[in-house]
Amino acid sequence: YRAKENKNSFQFYASEMNASMEEKLVLLEGMRSALDACNGGPCAGACQFQLLYQPKVDLRSGRLFGVEALIRWNHPEHGQISPLRFIGLAEESGLIVPLGDWVLRTACAQVEAWRAAGLPELAVSVNVSARQFEEKRLVERIAGALRDSGLAPRQLEVEVTESAIMRDLGRAVEKMREIEAMGVALSIDDFGTGYSSLSALKSFPISRLKIDKSFVADLAHCGDDQAIAMAVISLGHKLGLRVIAEGVETEEQRAFLRANDCDEMQGYLYSRPVPPERIAELLAGQAQSAAGAAAMETA
Ligand code: C2E
Ligand code: MG
Ligand code: MG
Ligand code: MG
Repeated sequence: YRAKENKNSFQFYASEMNASMEEKLVLLEGMRSALDACNGGPCAGACQFQLLYQPKVDLRSGRLFGVEALIRWNHPEHGQISPLRFIGLAEESGLIVPLGDWVLRTACAQVEAWRAAGLPELAVSVNVSARQFEEKRLVERIAGALRDSGLAPRQLEVEVTESAIMRDLGRAVEKMREIEAMGVALSIDDFGTGYSSLSALKSFPISRLKIDKSFVADLAHCGDDQAIAMAVISLGHKLGLRVIAEGVETEEQRAFLRANDCDEMQGYLYSRPVPPERIAELLAGQAQSAAGAAAMETA
């Protein structure tokens, strides 16, 4: 009886594995052909990949000062696929390199288009995953995206995780220095979930720490998370860095972060990731109310 049961459960497990392997291969093939259609750069319309942009706002002034580019895959059969489902696969297969290049180029071109349209200046951050970060030509790729779009380097920021950096610390710091030397900012994403040591952190040429959203989720009720958030804010400030909290969903979380001197926030409370047209609207609205306030002052 027992053996049979085991055998059945093994069969079940095996077929489930096959299904997920098959699913992986299908996704991978789809990614490859979708990427081919993109021709490696910002593409007009037909592309299955899309960047959404999530606003980052200053906690004191409420000003929208930047956006994070977040990829979406609009699959013709499966609908919208989350990056949590395909970025890992893109990493394993190496497709992350051309895909990441597309993200960089598209984000740079978009922010430059906002500037050319006369909207207030904005910074964009782009996520760079481990394999992409390690790749030899990353620095050249960033330089290429800047050159071809005409975007000013100060408007671009690269988000890396502690784990990507710690895979080869010496080389990572060297690469970060090269990126910084181009005038591009760096931030540590999901800070607190990786395992970088404080002595390593001290040597990173970064300008911003992003408090991971797992510490923000229960911020209003959990003393431990409050302690962690406060420690990250004070550590960041002592190292001369700006600190941004991700995943801010409630007014209580915002109030806590503000009261504890966090600089910036990002999260559903202000806005979900949205298409570029919506960012243009937000920016135009902000420019208008700033002009209104200035007119009031001089009146
Ligand atoms: P991340 O870089 O830490 O991005 C933050 C994630 O939190 C995004 O999920 C965002 O939509 C989500 N988020 C923002 N505000 C809130 C909030 O208030 N509450 C909650 N619950 N979630 C919030 P998304 O877009 O699904 O991306 C997931 C991860 O996939 C990203 O985490 C990043 O690691 C990766 N990713 C996304 N786009 C790219 C990309 O273009 N390249 C690379 N290499 N990775 C990417
Ligand atoms: Mg990020
Ligand atoms: Mg993050
Ligand atoms: Mg995260």
